[in-house]
Amino acid sequence: MFDLVTSASSIHGAYWMEGAGGIFCENEAMSWIVSLTGLPDGAFGVFTSGGTAANLSAIVTAREHWRENDAFKAEKGLIITSIGAHSSIKAMAKVADVDILLVDTEDIMYGKAFQKTIDGLTTHQRKRLFAVVGTGGTTNAGIIDDLEGIATICEKENLWFHVDATYGGGALAADSVRHLFHGIEKADSITIDPHKWMFSPYDCGAVIYKKPELAKKAHAQEGSYLDIFKDEGAHGFNPTDYQIQLTRRVRGLPLWFSLATHGTDKYKETIERGIELAQIAGRLIEENPHVELVRTPSLSCVLYRRIGWKPKDYTHWTYENHRKGFALVAPTKWKTGDTFETVSRFCFINPDTTEEDITLILDSMK
Ligand SMILES: *Cc1c(COP(=O)(O)O)cnc(C)c1O
Repeated sequence: MFDLVTSASSIHGAYWMEGAGGIFCENEAMSWIVSLTGLPDGAFGVFTSGGTAANLSAIVTAREHWRENDAFKAEKGLIITSIGAHSSIKAMAKVADVDILLVDTEDIMYGKAFQKTIDGLTTHQRKRLFAVVGTGGTTNAGIIDDLEGIATICEKENLWFHVDATYGGGALAADSVRHLFHGIEKADSITIDPHKWMFSPYDCGAVIYKKPELAKKAHAQEGSYLDIFKDEGAHGFNPTDYQIQLTRRVRGLPLWFSLATHGTDKYKETIERGIELAQIAGRLIEENPHVELVRTPSLSCVLYRRIGWKPKDYTHWTYENHRKGFALVAPTKWKTGDTFETVSRFCFINPDTTEEDITLILDSMK
């Protein structure tokens, strides 16, 4: 409902002078998200159209900061991430025209494997390397990289550390798994999507920076028609300065309203319920002989296989359930060694999902 109010109000959310009230409220919600990360004082962020735009904004900030050094001005940048990273990292690296190197694991990317990848670079590649992207909850399996280990290496090697917690970031509010994110407080930038595990209406992502002034250097737009909005007299926070978009709606408002209405404890409980549902699904899968777990559920993701099924059986099953209007549970792939296996995947967000829903879906695979 509050998204309707937000849209109908048509508040311009680029500059404080135009949308101070709305931006003030967005910033209240942002302060809560930033507090979940444990980043030091001074860290702050803005709401974006989603994780893709947030990741792009962060990569561009990192690259511009790196290029402030004349030695790198003429170099094409290089970033490292793992094959478990989200498709948007690769897509946005293309947009930013930087090369990307993938650590060959879909499971946890450990500091050690990351260091080995750095050590294996040629001298020129090492010169071009400016950032690493760790994932705080892979989209496919809910896996959290060794953020502490990676952060330590980034400090030593002077690399920008971006954490893509687009999906998993909500779990920072969940006490039962918060320890898995240890090290995230050392990141230079973090992406979290409120429109994923914080139940915001689409579209609402967020990018957070340890040093927002670096994002401002990279993203603030210049134009004589914009000067007044940045004048000393216009003091205030201009969201446009910290990400790629100029004119923007105050898309963080529905989250702010919901937080103000329900309180942060309700969020904590509701996110914990997603994790609990994944545990319940894991138990049901173990109890049913026609299915088995591919790996232990992580965050709210569950990967499992229907014993004896080929890829086309999963495709057929998904289409059939979709056609009936029963459920849309899409297949995915899981990599072990050199082989990709087609499997089924649950990712629980909606706390109203019931054990019966899960049972019915598993039964439809019999
Ligand atoms: C969903 C997701 C994205 C992309 O976010 P959008 O809001 O769909 O643009 C990026 N990274 C991760 C880890 C994701 O789960």
